[in-house]
Amino acid sequence: MTPPTDSGPTDSGPGARPDKDVNTVDTHTRDVDAVVIGAGISGLYAVYKLRARGMSVHGFESAAGVGGTWFHNRYPGARCDVESIDYSYSFDEDLQQEWTWSERFATQEEILAYLEHVADRHDLRSAFEFLTRVVSTVYDEDSGLWTVTTDTGRSVTARFCIMATGVLSATNRPDIPGVIRSPASRITQANGRTIPSTSQASASASSERDRRVSSRFR
Ligand SMILES: Cc1cc2nc3c(=O)[nH]c(=O)nc-3n(C[C@H](O)[C@H](O)[C@H](O)COP(=O)(O)OP(=O)(O)OC[C@H]3O[C@@H](n4cnc5c(N)ncnc54)[C@H](O)[C@@H]3O)c2cc1C
Repeated sequence: MTPPTDSGPTDSGPGARPDKDVNTVDTHTRDVDAVVIGAGISGLYAVYKLRARGMSVHGFESAAGVGGTWFHNRYPGARCDVESIDYSYSFDEDLQQEWTWSERFATQEEILAYLEHVADRHDLRSAFEFLTRVVSTVYDEDSGLWTVTTDTGRSVTARFCIMATGVLSATNRPDIPGVIRSPASRITQANGRTIPSTSQASASASSERDRRVSSRFR
């Protein structure tokens, strides 16, 4: 199936440098100009910016929604540690004026709501295929194209491939000697669930539970 080809708003703001060549320099067949992997803060902005340059974009996100870090990390107390007003996009001046943070250091919930709002405001979700994990990216020197393949078996070719995959979206079980054997040990996962671990046996049961819980969020 050929992915949707979309070209979004034209970037006519200050400093805009529409790259008109981008759709013509490459004479080889491709599905889209650019593939963006990840729908977190970086991936959302990448889609916005690429579309603004008149490029067709297709995004892949393994999770069910936008937000990246803020979609995955739902543990109690998760919040940003720079001031919310600085932890915001600056490309949309009206948004900057309209959006009001309720706290100086916003919670995960509020940051996720903000990113969902930005995605809706700029129609960024439409670029993404959710619940789809990229499993390989191969660059062909001759054609100058990336072939991006997903866990659904689909492949998309593109001139550019942007890895907006972040670093904090996968559960990382701490490999600390003794932590698994301690009766008091509880591991808080990124999604806020805790795993009591009293033995190696329960650790592997936990692993299985972890895998099942994680897969629901990916
Ligand atoms: C509690 C907490 C507080 C933080 N506070 C701050 C702060 O105050 N200031 C700051 O600058 N940063 C902070 N960070 C760091 C935060 O991760 C980044 O600011 C930012 O959210 C990263 O965005 P990203 O889009 O680059 O990556 P991510 O948000 O990690 O998004 C990457 C996305 O790529 C997807 N993905 C990955 N691999 C694949 C694949 N193979 N196929 C498909 N999809 C894939 C993931 O599912 C994920 O949704 C904080 C992080 C946490 C957890």
